[in-house]
Amino acid sequence: MGILEAKGVTKGYGEGAAYHKVLDDVNLDVREGEFLAIVGYSGSGKSTLLSLLAGLAKPDAGTMSLAGAPIAGPGRDRGIVFQQYSLLPWLTVAGNIHLAVDEAYPDWSADKRREHVDRYIKLVNLSHARDRHPHQLSGGMKQRTAVARALALNPKILLLDEPFGALDALTRGSLQEELERIWQQDQKTVIMITNDVDEAILLADRIVPLTARGTLGAPIPVDLARPREHAALNHDPRFKKLRLEVTEGLLAVVGHKAEERGAVAALPAVRPDHERGKKVRSFFGLGPERFVKGSAT
Ligand code: ADP
Ligand code: MG
Repeated sequence: MGILEAKGVTKGYGEGAAYHKVLDDVNLDVREGEFLAIVGYSGSGKSTLLSLLAGLAKPDAGTMSLAGAPIAGPGRDRGIVFQQYSLLPWLTVAGNIHLAVDEAYPDWSADKRREHVDRYIKLVNLSHARDRHPHQLSGGMKQRTAVARALALNPKILLLDEPFGALDALTRGSLQEELERIWQQDQKTVIMITNDVDEAILLADRIVPLTARGTLGAPIPVDLARPREHAALNHDPRFKKLRLEVTEGLLAVVGHKAEERGAVAALPAVRPDHERGKKVRSFFGLGPERFVKGSAT
């Protein structure tokens, strides 16, 4: 049994005729300690799924459970990092983290809380900026603060909603490395939502594609040794194969009914890779170069 489970989960918005289904019969089984990436394009329901896992919303049908018990609401066992930094602008880096720590551990002495805050500021390499306010921080520093704040509450599970989506490629690269280090060091269960296939392959143990129809594809195991180097991976044929597999997972269900979906999945891989790539490329309106090389080159 997984630590976090979704069974037959359906979720939509609106009432009556205006009801619009976003997630359709979603099944997910997250293993304790794993790094799971959920990949989907914009509007596919990623944030909706994360808010269900966080307990911030309830499914319309189906069940969600945490360590075998139904999810009744948000809890300290799940730390969340949103795409937008969500820091309080009138508090410093230390102040933002302190506020959460003070609320979570009211019984601790002031010294113990301060030490705890400083430990997490150090963990995300922000000691030099501990007394700065959000407007004095770069995007990457704000996101580090949000990660430190989530981690300082020592959650069993870290839920990350496109945490690096708003960052430039260089900053994203260094934060990805930091996240992998923290995950390995603290042995958390991490569920990261991303629209970046390469980021998912770089970090995850398993990747679950969320299709535009709001259904989850079969998990794709990423059996590449760690630590994974982005530059090196780009020349690794297994990386290219995974990238194609994930992209096809995102694509497979679009425009197909369930019975046709099976047929698509059962197609033997007899077409040469460039032919399959073409289909995927044209669906996303990408030029041939872009797809072959991927977004990271
Ligand atoms: P993603 O995070 O993958 O971009 P979301 O889960 O935010 O997708 O949204 C999925 C769909 O649900 C979108 O069509 C979005 O417009 C719609 N949606 C999200 N939140 C709400 C809401 N609170 N009320 C109505 N529609 C919503
Ligand atoms: Mg979102």
